[in-house]
Amino acid sequence: MLAYTYTAPGTFTLLEKPRPVLQDPRDALVRVTLASICTSDLHIKHGSVPRAVPGITVGHEMVGVVEAVGEQVKTVRPGDRVTVNVETFCGECFFCRHGYVNNCTDPNGGWALGCRIDGGQAEYVRVPFADQGLNPIPEGVSDRQALFVGDILATGYWAARIGEIHPGDTVFIIGAGPTGICTLLCAMLHQPGRIIVCEQDPARREFVRAHYPTVLTVAPEEAVDFVRSHSDHGGADAVLEVAGTPESFRLAWQAARPNAVVTVVALYDGPQQLPLPEMYGKNLTFKTGGVDGCDCAEILELIRQGKIDTTPLITHTYPLAQIAEAYALFEERRDGVIKVAIQP
Ligand SMILES: [Zn+2]
Ligand SMILES: [Zn+2]
Repeated sequence: MLAYTYTAPGTFTLLEKPRPVLQDPRDALVRVTLASICTSDLHIKHGSVPRAVPGITVGHEMVGVVEAVGEQVKTVRPGDRVTVNVETFCGECFFCRHGYVNNCTDPNGGWALGCRIDGGQAEYVRVPFADQGLNPIPEGVSDRQALFVGDILATGYWAARIGEIHPGDTVFIIGAGPTGICTLLCAMLHQPGRIIVCEQDPARREFVRAHYPTVLTVAPEEAVDFVRSHSDHGGADAVLEVAGTPESFRLAWQAARPNAVVTVVALYDGPQQLPLPEMYGKNLTFKTGGVDGCDCAEILELIRQGKIDTTPLITHTYPLAQIAEAYALFEERRDGVIKVAIQP
């Protein structure tokens, strides 16, 4: 089968590889029907994910059809359409039982697919702990509707959930990339009074205004003043930081009102500074990122009910054979790209 492979630092190559096989009674084999490229794939390519293993098939965001299951798999059967979770988790350890599945203590726990074990930018993928890692796609929900459930949508949903958004709140979201927009869609489910999105790229601000006309957008330079003048208590009640730069980190606490919750979803390239003297008395609560992807069934149900629709994010679709072109487009942010779907 064709599999996009991390062959060397800086290089991914489309290789012919043997089809994966079940290795454990809790495994499932999934025929990938649609995959996608994530910014984290680029992080692997450029060496900022040291635990990524050269030789692995990349890709951790995909949907497919179950081809085979190990004898201990209970929740899915061959023929089922499923979403695949970015995280591998056992479901039994202390962290899994508390819903902190990102911290599963299994040696394969956490983000393994397409990083430490073969992922899904391929025709087939082996999914460990299939009872946890796969969710059946409800009838009437298409592959394109379900594509982001296991990764960026899980992240947005989790961020909005832990962000303690109350009805009527002013929510400030920093970053309108794919994960930022997923976070926006999930924040909307909490009935805030107002959502303000900060984004550097004018095209992405325009995308947000065009698709979500009730949302206010602002460029980073004007954001602090804008948030203060568009919120009831001198700053945002809830801040969700999805951009991941020193400037966006600073903006996150500056734009928050006293006693707000600041949820950091972004992945930074380096340490960030908390200037505590400046923040003294603001009494903020910080929550830090690393999605717990354990709400996928709930998210799929919300998609079925029409309450979440991420299909406008899929701006481009490429066949697996042309995945290198898709990467180039995504990486260079050409042609208004938000997300690229890959069809095996
Ligand atoms: Zn990802
Ligand atoms: Zn576990």
